[in-house]
Amino acid sequence: MTSQTDSTRLKTDPSILNSEIEPTRPPLSTRVLARRVEEVPRSGIRRFFDILATMTDVISLGVGEPDFDTPQQVIDAGLHSLASRRTHYTSNYGTIELRRALSHHLERLYGVKYDPTEEILITVGGSEALDVAVRATLDPGDEVITHEPSYVSYRPAIIFAGGVPVGVNTTLDEDFALDPAKVEAAITPRTKAILLNYPCNPTGAVLPADVQDEIARIAVRHDLLVYSDEIYDRLVYNGYQMRCMSALPGMRRRTVHMGSFSKAYAMTGWRIGYVCAPSEILEGILKIHQYIIMSAPTVAQDAALEALKTGEPDVARMVGEYDRRRRLIVDGFNKIGLRTFEPRGAFYAFPQITSTGLNSEQFAEQLLREESVAVVPGTAFGDAGEGHVRCCYATSEAEIKEALVRIERFVKRREGN
Ligand code: PLP
Repeated sequence: MTSQTDSTRLKTDPSILNSEIEPTRPPLSTRVLARRVEEVPRSGIRRFFDILATMTDVISLGVGEPDFDTPQQVIDAGLHSLASRRTHYTSNYGTIELRRALSHHLERLYGVKYDPTEEILITVGGSEALDVAVRATLDPGDEVITHEPSYVSYRPAIIFAGGVPVGVNTTLDEDFALDPAKVEAAITPRTKAILLNYPCNPTGAVLPADVQDEIARIAVRHDLLVYSDEIYDRLVYNGYQMRCMSALPGMRRRTVHMGSFSKAYAMTGWRIGYVCAPSEILEGILKIHQYIIMSAPTVAQDAALEALKTGEPDVARMVGEYDRRRRLIVDGFNKIGLRTFEPRGAFYAFPQITSTGLNSEQFAEQLLREESVAVVPGTAFGDAGEGHVRCCYATSEAEIKEALVRIERFVKRREGN
């Protein structure tokens, strides 16, 4: 702060700027990054992928994306969009055709109705959906309860938005489902929201209906907002019935529903996701999106529309394939002696590796160096992930079989020690 006298002097002698007015201020180099950015550690997965990049012939169970390419008719729709010179911005909300189709889709699948004109926003992936949702709704110091281990971006997104993440641990013994009693115990006067991601990355867990109902009742009782990241909604197995959080009693008005085309339609590179919320909330979210993003890529929105119109057989085909691989990998791990519960959603298995005497990072690094199999240490998803590694089974059956042979060899060597 410059005093009146200082500002008068500044006008006549600008050279005093650095030397006299703020002599005690530390140099820019020591404070160039914002504190909230400094506070967030580098992603735990990054060091790991740095090692991976130097290796060849690695079987990767690391990256969380489909090994399938986008269905051909969806690619064709993208090509047609470009050929038709659809190379301009769309409405900030996204194309009305895509929003209408999405509105029908959610109503058909989950019985929840969103008005396509003012309750649906098309975003740049589920990633943008998460970012704009938390930034539009959190004030500094607002606490957000989330289950851990959880998706790597949650803590950073909450912190970047000025909020405070409050982790509630989930465990193998509970099949990684959130315990409502622990959620209620974590609520304080500063709690603003609960962030849910079921089916869950990294555990593959789903929420049993009674648990989901109880969490909804807690949100209503304590008047909390719920961010529900349902990006894996279509990838469920063994008869699990997915229910949208916003479809539960009392939840629509307090839920920010987030989704994406990335996983279900094998469209990670197209970068299309969405947020649905009551118009009062969506208006605030849109405000950030319109200033920062303007509109999601037009060509990708047109392709996403095609996915909604004709992609169902493709989703069914891919889910069937993931399901076979899921059973293969879960049985394989249990036979090797790495205790693994049955994931009923997403495309991740989360074996416990404590029997090897290694921690998660050691296991992942040594397995990569010795057997050229990439898995992600559970700790990349928070401390609650210690003792586990995440294995994405969205890779070919042949590769999964070979990975299991190598992992068994690796585990046996540890047991021999
Ligand atoms: N949410 C979860 C739980 C995820 O696992 C991912 C990606 O892995 C995302 C959101 C972001 O996905 P995208 O931005 O590709 O839609």
